[in-house]
Amino acid sequence: MKTTANATCPFCGCLCDDLSVTIEDNRIISVDNGCALANAKFLDDKRLQHPVIRENNRLRESSYEEAIEISADLLKNADRPLFFGWSGTQVEAQCAGVNLCEVLGGVIDNTSSICHGPSILAIQEVGHPGCTLGQVKNRADLVIYWGCNPSESHPRHLSKYTTYASGFFVKNAHRERKLIVVDVRKTESADLADEFVQINPGGDYAVLSALRAIVRGRSDFIPETVSGVPKAQLKRIVDICKEAKFGAIFFGLGLTMSENKYKNVRNAIELTRELSRHTKFTITPMRGHWNVYGANEAFTWLTGYPYAVDFARGTAYYNPGETSAVDILARRECDVMFVIGSDPGAHLPRKCLEYMSKIPVILVDPHVNCTSVFADVQIPVAIAGIETSGTAYRMDGVPLMTKKLIETDFPTDTEIINRIHEIVVG
Ligand code: SF4
Repeated sequence: MKTTANATCPFCGCLCDDLSVTIEDNRIISVDNGCALANAKFLDDKRLQHPVIRENNRLRESSYEEAIEISADLLKNADRPLFFGWSGTQVEAQCAGVNLCEVLGGVIDNTSSICHGPSILAIQEVGHPGCTLGQVKNRADLVIYWGCNPSESHPRHLSKYTTYASGFFVKNAHRERKLIVVDVRKTESADLADEFVQINPGGDYAVLSALRAIVRGRSDFIPETVSGVPKAQLKRIVDICKEAKFGAIFFGLGLTMSENKYKNVRNAIELTRELSRHTKFTITPMRGHWNVYGANEAFTWLTGYPYAVDFARGTAYYNPGETSAVDILARRECDVMFVIGSDPGAHLPRKCLEYMSKIPVILVDPHVNCTSVFADVQIPVAIAGIETSGTAYRMDGVPLMTKKLIETDFPTDTEIINRIHEIVVG
């Protein structure tokens, strides 16, 4: 039996790197410091044991060679292959995927196009006044969670970086750090807040605009309630923000995927700027999938664009809303779909799934998931971040090296992509 200290959790964008993992006979038997999500990830031993291929509407076992050959053939003969996913794997595989897609003249998109894609659009327009999670822990005396519920989605965010995390300048976090939660419903996180702001669904933009006006000293323009929030509470929130020494806003899909989408995020960034005229304020997207940030980084290094990149013109072209996976599928444009490090079968709109059921789908994933139902080929791989080492990015943009904790005979997803690439280029 051995224990590996400071292991990194490959589940959510917190990338907690202080886990203790105990291993016996090359099996993980316990995890210390992890949340319930981490325990489920590390201790799950149900996985697909061999590649499968769909024939006559039934799945049959195959060898890796056959599954890779068939996948390469499908991709080589496709006019418009779509590569989707990437947030559940490491940067090394993401880079290999971009290279393969470019050779084939396909479209490559990652899951940010259905989560924080609008945040990236807003950041491209007005910049990003962000900071590391370490800065938040050490300095922030005010934290605002807007449209997110970290108690359930990122369970250790509060204990590692905010409400319960004492830091260099915030010695007793629970007492000294104020917490404001803004959401359309009272969540577990809202129960912990000093101030809960309940807004009407779709009211984020109006509330952000009202807060900006109050910060600018123009509360005379504001009606008595804004999207269900009393003016008196909005004024109180602004007072709390101005009195803080260091405020940190974290926002989730409640902001990016509700009415006004990227305009909400742009408005939140503008509010952060307004507040920074009075004190120090920062803003950070709550990235969900553990390495979705890395996918944006890797895509940007290699193509100039963070997601939804189309190589059909022989050069990288980016136009979210046209080149994003949801749009390509809804327009019934791609003729093969390659899925890795995500489960679009569980998350994409019905119209997309209907089309996925009509085209060949290649799935590279260690586990049977909702996308397996659509897959014509599924190739199981080593579990990224547990059975392979590699690079992943935390939600604040800090890259971390993940450790290989146990040995495996399963190939890595990078190896599978590279073997397909070799066949494709001959
Ligand atoms: S908060 Fe996220 S990264 Fe941290 S242990 Fe839980 S699931 Fe893993």
